[in-house]
Amino acid sequence: MGLGSHPSLPSILLNSHLDSVPAEPSKWLHPPFSAVRDADGLIFARGAQDDKCIAMQYLEAIRSLNSKGFVPVRTVHISLVPDEEVGGFAGWAMFVESDEFEKMNVGFALDEGQASVGDEFRVFYADRIPWNLKIKATGQPGHGSRLYDDSAMENLMKSVEVVSRFRESQFDVVKAGKALNSEVVSVNPVYVKAGVPTHDGFVMNVQPSEAEAGFDLRLTPTTDPDEMKRRIAAEWAPSVRNMSFEIIEKGPLRDCLGHPLMTATNDSNPWWLVFKQAIASAGEKLSRPEILASTTDARYIRQKGIPVLGFSPMKNTPILLHDHNEHLRDTVYMKGIQVYESLISSLSSFLEASH
Ligand SMILES: [Zn+2]
Repeated sequence: MGLGSHPSLPSILLNSHLDSVPAEPSKWLHPPFSAVRDADGLIFARGAQDDKCIAMQYLEAIRSLNSKGFVPVRTVHISLVPDEEVGGFAGWAMFVESDEFEKMNVGFALDEGQASVGDEFRVFYADRIPWNLKIKATGQPGHGSRLYDDSAMENLMKSVEVVSRFRESQFDVVKAGKALNSEVVSVNPVYVKAGVPTHDGFVMNVQPSEAEAGFDLRLTPTTDPDEMKRRIAAEWAPSVRNMSFEIIEKGPLRDCLGHPLMTATNDSNPWWLVFKQAIASAGEKLSRPEILASTTDARYIRQKGIPVLGFSPMKNTPILLHDHNEHLRDTVYMKGIQVYESLISSLSSFLEASH
């Protein structure tokens, strides 16, 4: 399909990553890289859900539209990219800064979503933002028998308690049903490093002078990053307790205009209305738009101020991305092609949006 009849209008971009996470073949019912379809119609393959399905469905939908003589008004691009699973730093993060991307003049994009176990498709308007947080404590070393203030381990453990309380406060909101997991700030300890090593363990009668812990922190798009940093500096790693911290921000927080990386899913966004209508035209339903708990390449495109929805047309399907026996039912896959036909024809025919 490619070039639209009005190529000066902002284009439509359909994105999918080509990389996948590894698989452990011994834990699978079928070889993970052979796309075996079993007698029930389940297609087993690493990437069956995440997200080679959408790459193939884009192409099949366009082939079908072409065969019907459909001519888009807006140009339609497909991007098949590397490195999403390792953060996209050498993939989309670089591509959005290129002249090639600029020339594509993208007005709206679709990227991957996730399977829905129910009868409605899920759609994602934002990703959470990962921070890798390391907090370090130093303190008085001393004999393992002594009780004294300001040891490194004591300082670190106090912080771990404070972080745990914050974690609980966020998790309580989820448990009370007031927010989804992806709508709160999550923080999870991922390592603790301390002690004076010996050849087969640790010295047991020395209180070490250094201790460190690492946390996987995920901000929501509306979290104020400066406020979060103030909290970390004041409560999680206070310098008055000989603590320091390091934050590695894994991706952008705000778009080129300083706005949170969110795509509006209300009447203010004409693309949303076209998207919603195209889903309805295909005879399908959407559940309440969500923030994705993890990240995708969509954040880099949103960073440029371009609206992006995360969407993979998989319903009545178990969520198996990155899992053993990742699979997709053949009928779900085939129906998805029809859904994309509706989406691509509607989005590429849409005339009014200036963006
Ligand atoms: Zn993916």
